[in-house]
Amino acid sequence: MSQKTILVTGAGRGIGAAIALLAAQRGYRVCINYRADADAAHGLVERIAAAGGTACALQADVADEAQVEALFAAVDARYGRLDALVNNAGILARQTRVEDISAARINAIFATNVTGSFLCAREAVRRMSTRHGGSGGAIVNVSSRAAVLGSPNEYVDYAASKAALDALTIGLAKEVAGEGIRVNGVRPGLILTDMHASGGEPGRVARLAPSVPLGRGGEPAEVANAVMWLVSDEASYTTGTVIDVSGGR
Ligand code: NAD
Repeated sequence: MSQKTILVTGAGRGIGAAIALLAAQRGYRVCINYRADADAAHGLVERIAAAGGTACALQADVADEAQVEALFAAVDARYGRLDALVNNAGILARQTRVEDISAARINAIFATNVTGSFLCAREAVRRMSTRHGGSGGAIVNVSSRAAVLGSPNEYVDYAASKAALDALTIGLAKEVAGEGIRVNGVRPGLILTDMHASGGEPGRVARLAPSVPLGRGGEPAEVANAVMWLVSDEASYTTGTVIDVSGGR
C-alpha cells in the first residue's frame, strides 16, 4: 500500500508541530504548512527526515484563498495524494473586554480560524471525495474548549470563531459522509504552547492551571494523540464529533 499523506496547517510550532511529529512516527508523509516561521518549519522537516520519515514545509497563509489553492497544488505536485488534513492554524488576539473589540480584529480572527479552515477543507474534499474520484480521507479541525466553555474577559471573539469551526465540523461531516470522508474536531483546553505569550496576559497559564481538574496544563503531544486517533482507521465509525482534550476543564 502506498504511503499516506497528511497536511497539517500552522505546524511550525506548538500543537501543529506535535501533530506533524506524531504523524511522521505513524508513517505518514507530512506536509507542514507554515505562514511566517520558515526556520521552525524547515527544522521540523529535518528532524523528521533524521528519524527516517518524509516531510516537506509549505508556506501559505490559510486565510488567503489563492495561497490555499497553491498550497494544495503543491501537495499534489509533491506527493500526488492527500489522505488527511488537520486544520490546526489558529490565532488569538490580546485578551480584552468586549467593549474594546473592533470589527477588524473579529474579521482577522475569523479569517484564519474559520475561513482558513473552511478553504482548506474545501480543497481537501475536492481531492478526497469519491464523488471526485478520490479514495476518501479524514479531516480534523482544532477547535477550543473556549467554544463551549465561555470565558469572561477572555477572547469572546476567539470563542465565537471556534464555535463556528465546530459547526463546520458537524455540517461538513454530514455533507461528505457518503463520500468516504470523516470530519471531526478536538477542543483543547489549556495547552502549554507559545500561543499564550502572543495572546494572553503574562502568567495566564500559571494562573489557570490549578483550576484544571487534572491539575495542570496539557502538553501539545497529548492533543496530537487525540488528533491522530481521529485521523486513523481506529476512528472509522466516528464522524461529526468534537472531542474535548482539556484535562476535564
Ligand atoms: P501557536 O500560536 O503556538 O501555533 C499556531 C500556529 O499557526 C503558528 O505557527 C502560526 O504561525 C500559525 N498560523 C496562524 N495563522 C496562520 C495562517 N493564517 N496561516 C497559516 N498558519 C497560521 O498556537 P497553538 O497553541 O499551537 O495552537 C494551535 C491550535 O490549537 C490553534 O487553532 C489554537 O486556537 C488551538 N488551541 C490552542 C490552545 C492552547 O491552550 N494552546 C487551546 C485551545 C485551542
